[in-house]
Amino acid sequence: MPRKLAAGNWKMNGDGASLAEIDALLQAHPAPGIDILICPPATLIERMVRRIAGGAIAVGGQTCHTAASGAHTGDISASMLAEAGASHVILGHSERRADHGESDGTIRAQAEAALAAGLRTIICVGETEAERDADVTLEVVGGQLAGSVPDGVTAGTLTVAYEPVWAIGTGRVPTTDQIAQVHDAIRAQLVDRFGDAGAEMAILYGGSVKPGNAAEIFAVANVDGALVGGASLKAADFSGIITALEGA
Ligand code: PEP
Repeated sequence: MPRKLAAGNWKMNGDGASLAEIDALLQAHPAPGIDILICPPATLIERMVRRIAGGAIAVGGQTCHTAASGAHTGDISASMLAEAGASHVILGHSERRADHGESDGTIRAQAEAALAAGLRTIICVGETEAERDADVTLEVVGGQLAGSVPDGVTAGTLTVAYEPVWAIGTGRVPTTDQIAQVHDAIRAQLVDRFGDAGAEMAILYGGSVKPGNAAEIFAVANVDGALVGGASLKAADFSGIITALEGA
């Protein structure tokens, strides 16, 4: 069985005061039955790792450059994230694909850089609303998966996040049948490419997951957890999602 993961993506939100949310999460889940990850802005990674002080919450980055170092103003390398204490990195989030023009090839190269630095990768895929309306969701997601995931990954180094672009931050969520269809297709593609390891790789759902809808989503086959944006910012909300995943 894949390991269950509740991952929070703080995006460009949070400051030093937000670390109090981590204290509250640690207090609420001193010995969680699942993996918990928070990906704060890069400026908070080192402080957050110190604050967690060996507790059961991992810390990750939200992107990394394809190169280990060099003349890339404003960027951050995978080894810098690792040195700050990150264990994971989110790659290919739809906001990076849209705002920074990241292609599948770029994301694959970022993932190779992340693996070389010893980071675990969470690679995001998902269709736009126009693509869903045009009934090409499985082709789009399958193409992103094939193009973004490098060779040589294992269940320990790759997690896939299915995030329909139209569900991110909108309060709109696909039906459980729609989620099942895409997650089943991702699982089949992972097994086809990676064999037994593909059956162990976690597949997260992301897009407007809240405490109130989490249990229903986690009951879907091949949903091994969630990548959560807005509802990961407040410990009380994220805690409800963690509890739902523990009970799934
Ligand atoms: C996300 O951006 O990865 C996300 C899932 O956001 P939200 O939970 O706010 O929809």
